[in-house]
Amino acid sequence: MLFLQDSYIKEFNSTITQIIDNKVYLEETAFYAKSGGQPGDQGILNAGEETYKIIDTIKNDGKIAHLIEGDLNLNIGQVIHGKIDWNLRYRYMRMHSTMHLLCSILPFYVTGGQISFEKSRIDFDLGEGKYDIDFLQDQVNELIEEDHQVSYKWITTEELATQPELVRTLSVQPPNISGQIRLVKIGSVDLQPCGGTHIHNTKEIGKFHFIKYESKGKKNKRIHFTVNE
Ligand SMILES: [Zn+2]
Repeated sequence: MLFLQDSYIKEFNSTITQIIDNKVYLEETAFYAKSGGQPGDQGILNAGEETYKIIDTIKNDGKIAHLIEGDLNLNIGQVIHGKIDWNLRYRYMRMHSTMHLLCSILPFYVTGGQISFEKSRIDFDLGEGKYDIDFLQDQVNELIEEDHQVSYKWITTEELATQPELVRTLSVQPPNISGQIRLVKIGSVDLQPCGGTHIHNTKEIGKFHFIKYESKGKKNKRIHFTVNE
């Protein structure tokens, strides 16, 4: 999972370790597998003279599977060059990082979320809490403008267990790499365990645009939003 070390890796070389139907597995990959409401990456896989289209990336049996379009003529042990559809991925990174900012403004548990290219949504369990949604757009844009830097820190699962307040999403577990969990820190704004892909600083998000608020039941108060250049 090269994206856990650096989410800006757009191209990389790797070796095929397994092929099952149209699913190709690699020794290492920068392709993000669909999880936590973030779509899987798409892109290109080059092997010798052949170019294949990766139409989706998913987790299968705990491993990252690259879904190839059409017939494939590939072998285990073959060296490949992967290239991510950066236009898609960078927008997902901006949307996903925006969700962290929303978490800092709305101090409630996250009960759902979905990112797409055009717009995204995130659900909160407000419980008995109240929030005045009219201020949301300005508050998020203020945080973006403050240009907070994103940084990472690895802690053990035991350390995380002593700080349960850091966990904001109960349904999505961040990847556990040999007993280590990655914490994502956005300046002085947000700190939580997360295995997603983030921008370097909040200004890269651009402008936050609040679309609408929707109640999807007691535990799911939904915010629809998008980001513009
Ligand atoms: Zn994240």
